[in-house]
Amino acid sequence: MLCDHHTHTLLCGHAKGVPADYARAARERGLDAIGISDHNPMPRPFDDWRMSLDDLPRYLDLVEEARAAVHPFPIRLGLECDYLPGCESWIEKLASRAPWDYLIGAVHYIEADWDIDNPRWENRWRERDVDEIWRLYWLRLEQCIRSGLFDIIAHADLAKKFGLRPGGDLRRFYEPSIAAAAEMNVVFEINTAGLHKPCAEVYPHPKFLSLAREAGLPIVISSDAHEPDHVGRDFIAAHEAATQAGYNEVCWFENRKRHFAPLITPPKM
Ligand code: ZN
Ligand code: FE
Ligand code: FE
Ligand code: ZN
Repeated sequence: MLCDHHTHTLLCGHAKGVPADYARAARERGLDAIGISDHNPMPRPFDDWRMSLDDLPRYLDLVEEARAAVHPFPIRLGLECDYLPGCESWIEKLASRAPWDYLIGAVHYIEADWDIDNPRWENRWRERDVDEIWRLYWLRLEQCIRSGLFDIIAHADLAKKFGLRPGGDLRRFYEPSIAAAAEMNVVFEINTAGLHKPCAEVYPHPKFLSLAREAGLPIVISSDAHEPDHVGRDFIAAHEAATQAGYNEVCWFENRKRHFAPLITPPKM
């Protein structure tokens, strides 16, 4: 069961294609399933890179249409939810509004008006102390994990996206989140999109993955595709990273329940 759990749709405004396009790409590439996980709506207008609340029914319809189009190929219904302090009751409301297979928790915002992966604010990385930015990011990631709202945590070390990292041993950032995930029974993803960003590595770093493995934490492998062509992208590299960290299984989600499958070499894509 090799499923790409993290993909987007045109509804977020910065991705291309509808779920049926992603599902066909997954099937052509020899994956066993696909999960759609577009950026969650907020209760009121918030930023320019997520589906609007009015689009949520359309999102659910698009996934149903995709299921009909590629039947019996499995399509899982997910959502990538931004964790912000105080968002808990909103996420709970969203969780009850559809038969989700899983919810992905993500930290993009470290302050009310700073989504740290947004190239628009890249200058702030030079104006502020990188160590301080990382501290804020990882503190919020730990809160995201401890909220208990999510099944999977997206791109755990997203703060490295532009290639800027504090000096020294970065375990001081990783360890609290890994301990939190072990307590909360939350899964991390190996996200291959990082290979195509200035950091040029998968999220999270191999050191993080070994620590997560030592803590007994399962993983999923995902592309974070924003266009159908990127479904399953670099899954061979992700498989290598997982193997090197000592993993021999991956998990997949259905109806918010976790299942395990052996880690097998992905088909050549
Ligand atoms: Zn996106
Ligand atoms: Fe994200
Ligand atoms: Fe994403
Ligand atoms: Zn993402």
